[in-house]
Amino acid sequence: MIESTSAGKFEIRDAQNLRRITLDRRGFEVLSLLDKRQTKEELLQRIASNGNPMSPEALDRVLGVLMDLELLDVKQDEQETSLLIPRDLRFSCLACGSCCVGVNIGPVSEEVASVVREDLALLDTSGKPPFFVMEEDKEKERFLVCQSRNGACVFLDRDGLCRIHKQKGAQAKPWVCRVFPFRFVRTRRGIRVGLIPECRNMLRSFKGKRLCEQNRELEALLQGTSKLAVAPGFISLTKSKTISFEEYEAIEEEIFKAIRRSRKGMFYQLIEAWKIIVSRTGEAVGSEGITVEDTVHKLYSLVQEIAQRLVSLKGLFRQETGEIRFHSENLDMLVEALSDCPLYMSKILEDDPKNIRSFSKVIMFNYLWSLEGLEHRSVSSALSWLAISWFFTKSLALSRAVKVHRFLLFPQDIVDAFICVHMLLRNHRVKKTLQVLEEKVEEIFGQCLPFLVGHGPEIEISDQKTDFHLF
Ligand code: SF4
Repeated sequence: MIESTSAGKFEIRDAQNLRRITLDRRGFEVLSLLDKRQTKEELLQRIASNGNPMSPEALDRVLGVLMDLELLDVKQDEQETSLLIPRDLRFSCLACGSCCVGVNIGPVSEEVASVVREDLALLDTSGKPPFFVMEEDKEKERFLVCQSRNGACVFLDRDGLCRIHKQKGAQAKPWVCRVFPFRFVRTRRGIRVGLIPECRNMLRSFKGKRLCEQNRELEALLQGTSKLAVAPGFISLTKSKTISFEEYEAIEEEIFKAIRRSRKGMFYQLIEAWKIIVSRTGEAVGSEGITVEDTVHKLYSLVQEIAQRLVSLKGLFRQETGEIRFHSENLDMLVEALSDCPLYMSKILEDDPKNIRSFSKVIMFNYLWSLEGLEHRSVSSALSWLAISWFFTKSLALSRAVKVHRFLLFPQDIVDAFICVHMLLRNHRVKKTLQVLEEKVEEIFGQCLPFLVGHGPEIEISDQKTDFHLF
């Protein structure tokens, strides 16, 4: 999908491969003509007929670049298909049904909807249609959102089990339901298997059976899909440094070691990762010249801008029917939490308690391993988005607790808040509206993160009424 064009540059959002690519006019012209099987001569002729002929050598160069960017089809049998599963990754589903409740239900594509439509006979929908249509605007894709009963998928039975699964077997469910919470990404060395941190029971399920002992089941799952996310050949480490994927893997390994060694929480793990990246680029970092006043000002104006942008999306999230009301509830809660966050800044920025650290390690490990952040302009930017997600998570957990006059937080509060934030930030409309803030997020939650963490209490607006106890 072409996102934007400016000054002869074409930006492509490659959703399948988790990245954005900028091509020049020539690269884009060739790419847009690669719409069918054709010989090189035919392609040269089609380019020439557009009024701007190209030499065969120049075409080879452009095709080489597109190939490196993995924008051209590669034959399946040339790719490595073995599963890459880190030994310490574990998961066992507890069949609690919680992931079939709330915002997880959609949006789904027409393709998924058509699978489920065949199972309508299993339902008692009182004549209601099973899906609602969400349309962002007329030119864009239509999304379907599954009808809910008290916010739960209509196929979820009272016993917490899926009716399609019970009556017709796991294979009958849409692939998106079968595959959750696994995430597969094709790399040159094999297919990475990671976990999407949206299982509401992850404090227990992520301690379950080792994924490497579930190889057969995972391979069977993979049979069900022809499309996999693909790791790019090159990765931007920072705004100014691009490296090959193989070089990135070495840096990533170093970061994983630092995460495993760390005895601190998420912000500190991110700071370690940031240091490793910076050591590879030789870029200067440090807190010289950064002042508390300046950082506070920048932080609050960023938080305010994010809240305003989220509020502007509310119209898009809210549907006419009340049945998918929950889609704007997450957004409302986060906006409210952001307006409260100046009151709890020392708590938000302080190190995570011990029982949260192991959870944050899994989150961070999976975020990197699943290459989830590569839609951002660079690895350093992706890390700063994870830092802001954690900031939102803690803000939200604290704000929710205060609403019910509770001054104790528990690990499940953090899990619930993280899932809410994670789902919101991966929504394509939210991503699009916050994308313009990428530079500011990287400045505050990347470069200034050690400073923020070190000065939390000074940033807080003191409020005598709230006095939180440990989680
Ligand atoms: S929330 Fe987690 S444990 Fe519960 S059914 Fe979903 S994947 Fe399984």
